[in-house]
Amino acid sequence: MEKGIRKPIEKMPLKGEVSNCPACDYKDGFHVSFNLDDNSRTGNIIIICPQCSSRFSVGWPIQLQKK
Ligand SMILES: [Zn+2]
Repeated sequence: MEKGIRKPIEKMPLKGEVSNCPACDYKDGFHVSFNLDDNSRTGNIIIICPQCSSRFSVGWPIQLQKK
């Protein structure tokens, strides 16, 4: 995987402890990122494997507070 080229976001159902990457052998947890909708107020949490950079949507919606 070349740096700077992003993989598509895959869906990953949550089950048990969420620390193992299903795409590689990494088992020590994920980075967290946020994929905001066009309105910049709602979106979803994306988790990213630190080893293989696979990105997963895990069904954690977010809604930002009003200013
Ligand atoms: Zn991985």
